[in-house]
This record gives sequence, structure tokens and C-alpha cells, in this order.
Amino acid sequence: MSVARKNKTPAPKMADPLGALAESLWRPMGVEGVYGRTGAYEAIVEKLAAFISQARDPHAEIMRFPPVMSRRDLEKNGYLKSFPNLLGCVCALHGSEADIRAAAGRAEQGDDWTQALSSADLVLTPAACYPIYPIAAQRGPAPRGGYCFDVAADCFRHEPSQDIDRLQSFRMREYVCIGSADEVSAFRERWIERAKGMTETLGLPYSIAPASDPFFGRTGQMMAVAQIQQALKFELLIPVRAEDSPTACMSFNYHRDHFGVTWGLRDYTGDVAHTGCIAFGMDRLAVALFRTHGIDPQTWPAKVKEALSL
Ligand code: ATP
Ligand code: ZN
Ligand code: MG
Repeated sequence: MSVARKNKTPAPKMADPLGALAESLWRPMGVEGVYGRTGAYEAIVEKLAAFISQARDPHAEIMRFPPVMSRRDLEKNGYLKSFPNLLGCVCALHGSEADIRAAAGRAEQGDDWTQALSSADLVLTPAACYPIYPIAAQRGPAPRGGYCFDVAADCFRHEPSQDIDRLQSFRMREYVCIGSADEVSAFRERWIERAKGMTETLGLPYSIAPASDPFFGRTGQMMAVAQIQQALKFELLIPVRAEDSPTACMSFNYHRDHFGVTWGLRDYTGDVAHTGCIAFGMDRLAVALFRTHGIDPQTWPAKVKEALSL
């Protein structure tokens, strides 16, 4: 017997201006910003990933990371100073068999069993590039031209929302450069131009704007102002949810020596390395394609289909 046919309850409506689009691409999983993805949607995410791979620098080294990473490493990166509100931490039931049984038993009685949880050594990866810096540090100084990595991870940020462009669980792909200040600046400049060309090829309307990270709290606002003044972050914005409030689908980040100092990274001269990353929001880009070109990829413009090998 088909379970799907038996269950006649309609899927809850998403309170989003693009509710119809979200409903055809995703399936609700009972928590805001966390969705099951249809085959049609995933097919485009995969094509998009291949399109981004084609633009990869030839010497880039590929690494793929799991959705969890070392809590200690993320603490060392200073994440709790900047974005404590966004962090998801893995918790587990520790202790003896009796302790664990007692906690699980509370759930059966309808009591709050989560009080018994304590944190594990893992956090949910909040950005794809964090795990690469300690790995690169073990290699010794970067060669002339810098290290270049191609990384990706399923990312988590605790920012529940009903908007189609703000998920709690989403895919991020990044190109990361570790080298001298000049090498990282040149990498970022090159990638801003390359990303513009890629977005045009995909037939997506866009603008590039200076941006800041969503630093937490009042001191965070000062950090955000400084970040904009120093032009440390740019975003490529595409209308996804609203024409007048376009969505950041890619970001171009210069961290200066933050990760270099934290992890003891060196450039080819032996100085503390600078780092930068180019981030592609895979889910936002996929939604942008459907939003711009329509729900059926077979009807998309010929040049977009060609670029994505559809
Ligand atoms: P925003 O400005 O939307 O809050 P951000 O500046 O925090 O995003 P980055 O830290 O630069 O984003 O992350 C890199 C990319 O990951 C973003 O450009 C975006 O495409 C994607 N991304 C970030 N947060 C989310 C999210 N909550 N849902 C979906 N994609 C996201
Ligand atoms: Zn990054
Ligand atoms: Mg932003």
C-alpha cells in the first residue's frame, strides 16, 4: 500500500511571497528554513555545482566537509565572539546506561528530556571554509601564488525564517585563497569579475554591493561598519524574494590576517598569511534560477540550458 496515497493532508502553506515556487521545489519538514528537496530541484543544484567547477582555478585542491566540525576549532576561530546567535551545537546524552535510560524515559512520559543533554565535541558547520585553515596550516608556508582550495559543506545557521532565501540548513561552495595580502586581493578581484560573467551566462539580473557580516549585538554593529569601510566584503545580489530587496547569492570576503594569526598560516615569504574566500550560496542560486526563468528548466533560455548542460 502506498503511504503517500493514504496521506491526504495537504502540505502546510509557506507564508512567503514565493510560496508557490517553494512548494513545488521543496517539501516542509516541520521546522522553518529546513526542507526536503525534490529531484527536479536537486538536478539544478547538481548542474550548478558542475558549472561552478568549470570555473575553478586549475591548481585548486578539492575538499568536501561534513555538516559538523570540531567545536574547539570553531571556538578558536572566534565564532562565538562574532556570531554566537547563529551557532548550532551538537548535544548528546552522556553518562552511564542508567543515566541515558532515565533521560530517554522522561521523553516517553512527555517530560523535558533535553535537560539531560550535554554538548559534544561537535558544532554544525556554519560556513564551508572554516575547516580548511587548520588543515592548510599543517602543510607549512603556502607556495608563491598561494594555496587555493575548492571546498563545500552543508551549513547550519540558527536563523529560522519563512523566507525562501533564508534557510537554517543550506549548501555552501567556496573557493579559498591563502597567501600574501597581494595574492589574496588579486584572487578576490579576479573572482568578482569571473562571478559577474558567470551570473550573466546564467541569465540572472544582479548587482554587486559592499556588505558586512551579520555580527551579533551592539559591538557587532561597530564591527560591521568597520568591515564596510575597509571593503572587506562584497556580495553579488539577485532579486529572489523581492525586487527591491535583492538576496546575497555569492560573497567575496577578505579576512586579512585573521585566520593566518589564529592558525599560524604563512605565505611564501614566511610572513603571516592573509586569506580570502568566494562563497556561492547553492540553494539561493538554484532558487534564483527557478525564480528568474520559470519552474520548468526545459523552457529556460537556450544559453542558460547550454551553460548548465540541461
Ligand atoms: P546574509 O547577508 O543573507 O545574511 P551572509 O552575509 O551571512 O548572508 P555569508 O556568510 O557571506 O552570508 O555566506 C555565503 C553565502 O551563503 C551567502 O552569500 C548566501 O548565498 C549563502 N547563505 C548565507 N546564509 C544563508 C541562509 N540562511 N540561507 C541560504 N543561504 C545562505
Ligand atoms: Zn569562507
Ligand atoms: Mg550578508
